[in-house]
Amino acid sequence: MEQQDCLFCKIVAGEIPSTKVYEDDVCIAFNDIAPQAPTHILVIPRDHVRSMNETDEKHKETLGHLLLTAAELARKAGFAEKGYRVVINTNEEGGQTVFHLHVHLLGGRQFIFPPG
Ligand code: AMP
Ligand code: ZN
Repeated sequence: MEQQDCLFCKIVAGEIPSTKVYEDDVCIAFNDIAPQAPTHILVIPRDHVRSMNETDEKHKETLGHLLLTAAELARKAGFAEKGYRVVINTNEEGGQTVFHLHVHLLGGRQFIFPPG
């Protein structure tokens, strides 16, 4: 269900352009507008979910689907064996700025831990 004034709902609806790299019935994946790595893709559910805090039992399949999609996109991008990072920022202290659940897939460079 689309949420008024949600940037990523507008991307799902095609009202705001994005560089789509994958889509299916459950999710879409597109390039981040401010990439933090050579490959930086956002995988988002078509249905609006504000953050991890709003997930429950009924989101099990969607959450699994987002992660499996990220893994598949990492394999397709060719950096799966070398390694990559998957990130879900949650609320203000978690660094979330867009309040429509999204999985960051970052690859193509060395990452350090813990992140900032
Ligand atoms: P987060 O800080 O985890 O909420 O991540 C939001 C991400 O969305 C950031 O990495 C932004 O660069 C990215 N972003 C914001 N607007 C757009 C857009 N119009 N198209 C693609 N990515 C975007
Ligand atoms: Zn939304």
